[in-house]
Amino acid sequence: MFTKNYKKNKATRAKKKEILKKVVKPLPEYIKEADRLFSKLIRKIYTEADGALWCYTCDRPLVYNEAQCGHFISRSELALRWSLDNCRVQCNACNSKHETDPQIFKEVLEHEIPGITSQLQEIARLVAKPTRGAIIELISELKSKLKET
Ligand SMILES: [Zn+2]
Repeated sequence: MFTKNYKKNKATRAKKKEILKKVVKPLPEYIKEADRLFSKLIRKIYTEADGALWCYTCDRPLVYNEAQCGHFISRSELALRWSLDNCRVQCNACNSKHETDPQIFKEVLEHEIPGITSQLQEIARLVAKPTRGAIIELISELKSKLKET
């Protein structure tokens, strides 16, 4: 059945470790990749047919590359980090200001979808610890969404 005794073959195990290190990246790298794709998706979703794009909280026209993915509930809440309900396009100034003053985003979002801000705040109370597998799955979902958007 077995051609080799893998269990005792140190060289094979070392080689396997080396391969896994290359194939399985650390979790923060997957998070970074999901962030990059999600930001792209948010900007694509809110880009008008003629290419116009506006900051959600100051209504300033933006070019695609200066637009950012702004989060109503902070990115540190992993349950909402890649939530379409929680994110809109923002300019750099508004996105930075949001950390100290979330009120504008809250009011505009609440006006757009009544009741959503309290729902999101509720979700933010849950502790989310996505696994590497879940984030890999998210990455492939984001890739296919980007293709169809
Ligand atoms: Zn703005």
